[in-house]
Amino acid sequence: MAKSDLDRGSRAFTRKLKRYSIFSIARHAGNYHQEWQQAWSHAEPKTAYDAVIIGGGGHGLATAYYLANIYGMTNIALIEKGWLGGGNTGRNTTIIRSNYMWDESAAIYEHALKLWEGLSQDLNFNVMFSQRGVLTISHSEHELREMSRRVHAIRLNGIDSDMLSPAAIKKLVPMINIEPNIRYPVLGGFLQKRAGTARHDAVAWGYARAADELGVDIIQNCEVVGLRRNKDKIIGIETTKGNIKTPKVGCVVAGHSSVLADMANIKLPIASRPLQAIVSEPIKPILDTVIMSNAVHMYISQSDKGEMVLGAGVDKYNSYAQTGSWPIPEHMVAAAVDLFPFLSQLRMLRQWGGIVDICPDASPIISKTDIRGLYFNCGWGTGGFKATPGSGHIFADLIANDRPNSIALPYSLKRFETGFLIDEHGAAGVAH
Ligand SMILES: Cc1cc2nc3c(=O)[nH]c(=O)nc-3n(C[C@H](O)[C@H](O)[C@H](O)COP(=O)(O)OP(=O)(O)OC[C@H]3O[C@@H](n4cnc5c(N)ncnc54)[C@H](O)[C@@H]3O)c2cc1C
Repeated sequence: MAKSDLDRGSRAFTRKLKRYSIFSIARHAGNYHQEWQQAWSHAEPKTAYDAVIIGGGGHGLATAYYLANIYGMTNIALIEKGWLGGGNTGRNTTIIRSNYMWDESAAIYEHALKLWEGLSQDLNFNVMFSQRGVLTISHSEHELREMSRRVHAIRLNGIDSDMLSPAAIKKLVPMINIEPNIRYPVLGGFLQKRAGTARHDAVAWGYARAADELGVDIIQNCEVVGLRRNKDKIIGIETTKGNIKTPKVGCVVAGHSSVLADMANIKLPIASRPLQAIVSEPIKPILDTVIMSNAVHMYISQSDKGEMVLGAGVDKYNSYAQTGSWPIPEHMVAAAVDLFPFLSQLRMLRQWGGIVDICPDASPIISKTDIRGLYFNCGWGTGGFKATPGSGHIFADLIANDRPNSIALPYSLKRFETGFLIDEHGAAGVAH
């Protein structure tokens, strides 16, 4: 290379450096985000749509995306009363797994897990899906026997699941305390290697951007305050930004599903309760597996930022107050410190709660209603994040075709009349 080329190269490099210099940062500081490209456009409501999805969490956004992408329904709107992902989608502890006990659950959560495996490519957006494995530990002989039964059931459905001895657990998770004389001794556990975590906000943003590109109107800061019907048929919705005519309405509002159902005089078998979580200050990477304990309502993982993310159980009372409370996390932290003594040296950074919608059998509702054109997708309780792509995919199919497919069929509201419940309380109602 000639010297003049080198000079030109170094001058260009110096120019580049100046562009990113402290002065440049200061010059652009007042612009806030003005020069950032918007990931999706902010639409105002039109007077009519072919379908409206209520709820801008992951499930609602996924539904809108698949309606547009698979069924060609692009004249649709997604209505969110706050901001996208501001509900449970942005509040959850991001655990994804499909190792459920019953066939109906295995079908839906495995369908979702397969979609997770290709989601970043599908959306062209990195949702940071990390298959780091989810390990559920047991503290009693009884629990261990129940686990082994569950592992067999899971494997019969073609889903990966392995029993682990305490020694194998210690090898996988060196930070765990497996001393036999602690309050919650580790007697064994079961591992799903394909399970893991994803970045929750990115899931909402990825679906929003992809849906917007397909023509879906994404309308934020717009609350649905009424459902309009003509006898047994839905004809539109009332919102804080005016009325919208539509023959199809999909309600995906998690903890507020009973409120929406009430607008159509429907009673859902749902209890809405705050679910609690906390995170610690960030530390260097030390934990690359998710660990759950159903018996003590404790689960822990390390985020990509380095925070220890700790999830607890639900508050003991129904409430719409989306706030953190201490009694439940306090119980969880006591067990967590026993199992992971290093936690006692960490400062906790934040705690929060989100309103989850729990059905009596801890399984979701994906269903038509007696009102034509009105559909509900709710009841995911403490464990719906993992289902996000599968839930949206199946709900879009139900709305587009007005009939449930084979995965959705068992999740109809009718099961509360027939008694064909999908009792996953041990799996979904307790931990995540
Ligand atoms: C602390 C915590 C930890 C959790 N951990 C896990 C986990 O590790 N793994 C897992 O699988 N699941 C977990 N979950 C559960 C999971 O977060 C939820 O099941 C899932 O995110 C529900 O998604 P969604 O899109 O249905 O709901 P949301 O994200 O809550 O979206 C519903 C949206 O509807 C909007 N809305 C409500 N009413 C109206 C209205 N009238 N008009 C317009 N919009 C309205 C809300 O503002 C909200 O944005 C956890 C939940 C919490 C709270």
